[in-house]
Amino acid sequence: MYLRSYMGWRFWALFFCLCSPSSVSAERLASSYLKVTEEAASSRQLIRYCVDPDWLPYEAIREGEHVGISSDYIRYIESHSNFKFSLVPTTSWSETLNFLQTGRCELTPMLNKTATREQFLHFSHVYFHSPNVLVSLKEQPFLQGFENIGSRTLAVPKGYRLAEYIQHYYPKVKIIEVGSEPAGLEAVLDKRADLFVGSMFSVNAYIQQTGFNHLKIAGWGGPEDELRMGVSLGHEALLPILNQVLDDVDELERIRIYQKWNNITVIDETNYLLIYQVIVGTLLVVFLLATRTFFISRYNRRLTDKNEQLEALRLRLEHTNAELEFLSTHDPLTKLYNRHYFNRQFVHEHRSEISSEGAICLVMLDIDFFKEINDTLGHAVGDNILMELSGVLQHCVRETDVVARWGGEEFVILCHQTSIDLVKTLCQRIAAAIKDYRFSGNVQLTCSFGIAKLVNNEPMQSCFERADKALYQAKALGRNQICVDEFNT
Ligand code: GH3
Ligand code: MG
Ligand code: MG
Repeated sequence: MYLRSYMGWRFWALFFCLCSPSSVSAERLASSYLKVTEEAASSRQLIRYCVDPDWLPYEAIREGEHVGISSDYIRYIESHSNFKFSLVPTTSWSETLNFLQTGRCELTPMLNKTATREQFLHFSHVYFHSPNVLVSLKEQPFLQGFENIGSRTLAVPKGYRLAEYIQHYYPKVKIIEVGSEPAGLEAVLDKRADLFVGSMFSVNAYIQQTGFNHLKIAGWGGPEDELRMGVSLGHEALLPILNQVLDDVDELERIRIYQKWNNITVIDETNYLLIYQVIVGTLLVVFLLATRTFFISRYNRRLTDKNEQLEALRLRLEHTNAELEFLSTHDPLTKLYNRHYFNRQFVHEHRSEISSEGAICLVMLDIDFFKEINDTLGHAVGDNILMELSGVLQHCVRETDVVARWGGEEFVILCHQTSIDLVKTLCQRIAAAIKDYRFSGNVQLTCSFGIAKLVNNEPMQSCFERADKALYQAKALGRNQICVDEFNT
C-alpha cells in the first residue's frame, strides 16, 4: 500500500536532487576539476571528518565504514582534489557535533546550516536538497505542517536543525528529543510520540527496510533540508576547494549517487506472506468447519438412527406390554375376561361400590353335553363353538354387564342394577339366540343357566356358590333350563 507513495517520493526526491543549485555546465566542470596527479597524491592534505552514524541514506557508519550519499561525495572530492579524508567514528549525531566543536574532527559532510552551528562551523555551498516529512501512525489524520500539530507530541532527533527550527518558530509544539531518526520512528510506533519529523529519504529508506507498515507520511514537515558540508573554525581555508569541487559535480554523477542510495528494492515478501497466511488461515478455517460439519452431521445421523431404533423398540415394548396386559386378564381363545381377572375384580376384592351400585345378579352358564361334541366333531370344532358362543353372549348382554369364561365350557355373567326377572329374561334371550345360531358342525347347541342375586352384605363368593347350585339344578332338570337359586325366589 505504501509502495505507491514511496514511488511518489522517489519522483520528488529526484526532482529536489536535480533542482540543486550546484548543477553547472559541462565546460565549467572540465576546466575546474582539480585532478590529483600522481605526484600530488603523496602530499595530500589529511582531513579528519565525522558523520551522523545513523542517517541513511544520507550517511551512516556501518561496520566502521562511512556509507551513504555523503560517502560518495567525499570519495568524489578525494578523487578531484588533494584532500585525503579520514573518518573519526562517532556513536551519535550529538557526539559528531561535539567532536566538531572540540576539534576532534574538522569536517562533517552533510548538514543544514543553523545559527547555532554557525558558531562553530563554516558551511560550503548547498549540494543536496531534501524535503522533510511528518510521520504518524496510519490512523492519524493528515496534517498541512507544524501549524496543525496542536497538542500532539513531536519526536525530533537531538541536535538536528529541525529541533532548533521548531523551537524557534513553533515554540508551543511539544517536542521529544530522540537519539536518531530510526529512534524517532520507533517512538511513534511505541506511541511515545504522536509524530516524527525527519528527512523524507531516510524515513522512506527506514520504513522500506524495516517494513513498518503501521506508519504513514502525515504531511510536509517544515522547510526542506539544504545540505552542505561544514568545516570547523580555523579550517575555513578548505571551503574554496570544497565549493569548487561540489559545484562542479555534474548532473549525471548527482543522479548516479542519488539512485545508488535510493534504489532500495521494496521487498513485498511481507505482503505475499500476509496473503499466503490469510489464504492458509481461511483454508484451515474452511477445512475445520467442513470437518466439524461432517462429523456433526454424521453424529446427528447416528443419533437419528438410534432414536428411530429406540422409538421402534419402545413401540414394540408398548405393544408387547399391551399384549401381556391383555393376556393376563383375558382368555386367549374366546377373548373374554378370564377367571383370574373376574375373581380379582369382583370376587376376592369385592368392593363396596359394587354392592352400592344396586342389585347385582350372577349367571352361571354351562354348555350341555359339550364332551360329546368334542368327541364326535373334534376338539377344533369344539374350540370354534366356544368362540362362537362367546360372541353370542357378548351380543346379548348390556354394555354394563360383564361376561367371563369361568373355565372349560362354563361362563359367568355379572349384571349390575338389575333384577331376577330381568336376568331371567336375559337368559331366555341368550337361549333363543343360541337356538337360532348356526354353530360349527351344525351343532344344535343348548346351555343351562343358574341365577343368583347378591343379597345385602353377602360375600360375592357365596353368591357364586348359589348361582352354581342353581346351575346344577338346571342340569338336573334335564339341561337347557334356567334356574334361579331358591334363596332368591
Ligand atoms: P354336561 O351337560 O353335564 O355339562 O356335560 P358335558 O359333557 O358338557 O360336561 P363335562 O364336564 O363332562 O365335559 C366338559 C367338556 O368340555 C370336557 C372337555 O373336553 C371340554 N372342554 C373343556 N375345555 C375345552 C376347550 O377349551 N376346548 C374344547 N374343545 N373342549 C373343552
Ligand atoms: Mg361343565
Ligand atoms: Mg357342560
